[in-house]
Amino acid sequence: MGEAGTTGATSRVAIVTGAARGIGAATAVRLAQDGFAVAVLDLDEAAAKGTVEAIEAAGGRALAVGADVSDAEQVETAVNRVAAELGPPTVLVNNAGVLRDNMLFKMSDSDWDIVMNVHLRGAFLMTRAVQKHMIEAKWGRIVSMSSVSALGNRGQANYSTAKAGLQGFTKTVAIELGKFGVTANAIAPGFIQTEMTKSTADRMGIPFDDFIKGAAAQIPVARVGQPEDIAHLVSFLVSEGAGFVSGQVVYAAGGPRV
Ligand code: NAP
Repeated sequence: MGEAGTTGATSRVAIVTGAARGIGAATAVRLAQDGFAVAVLDLDEAAAKGTVEAIEAAGGRALAVGADVSDAEQVETAVNRVAAELGPPTVLVNNAGVLRDNMLFKMSDSDWDIVMNVHLRGAFLMTRAVQKHMIEAKWGRIVSMSSVSALGNRGQANYSTAKAGLQGFTKTVAIELGKFGVTANAIAPGFIQTEMTKSTADRMGIPFDDFIKGAAAQIPVARVGQPEDIAHLVSFLVSEGAGFVSGQVVYAAGGPRV
């Protein structure tokens, strides 16, 4: 076994969802650096091409795939395409996500449903579609993006429920697939500087720089997180040597509490 992403001369194949930007893009770039061939999956295939170009410019191998993770047919087609064009995927990073924040009394049915569909149904559909390749290979790594919001966060009844749900999903997948050499873990990031946190600042009418300064003042390491901070942790969890770490939730929030 050579680099993390290789088995003999062949690259292992990773799928990262929501990888057109933010944490997903940084993770896709990092896994390509680690030696994986990476399927950059996002709603919009054209948007995913930016990440693919960055990977190819650095000498890596990547494929842009357009799919809605909450649509079973699109997921099946996307995973089949990855298997045909890059090879059987044995690493899956369930990262695609959306926010529809609102106080409970104002939260609409669709605010609830879309968040459940993208985070929970999306992770379920992707994991179900990819696990067969992992089981055939007798090796696999699944990482799902939870959040510190899983512990409760004002205005996020939908999102915190979905992110807590992903933790239960991760633990069950770890139990069911462990004997096939597959691990499943969740990462619960704190404040990471991306379009998602910018959209929260915009919604609250606070300039993003001030929002970041305010958040950093509450974080023990005195800064907000960057997408690369989370990509680094994904890189560890999908590595060869992390095979005895499974069913865990790793909080990456610059300190012990949120
Ligand atoms: P982001 O910048 O908003 O990126 C999310 C990506 O997911 C976007 O490219 C988005 O595409 C894509 N996406 C949304 N719905 C999708 C669907 N149905 N199918 C496929 N792709 C879809 O978010 P981020 O901040 O990088 O967050 C990434 C993950 O980390 C999310 O799960 C988020 O909940 C979690 N997280 C983030 C933070 C943070 O502080 N940023 C903290 C904790 C957890 P479109 O642009 O086309 O919508």
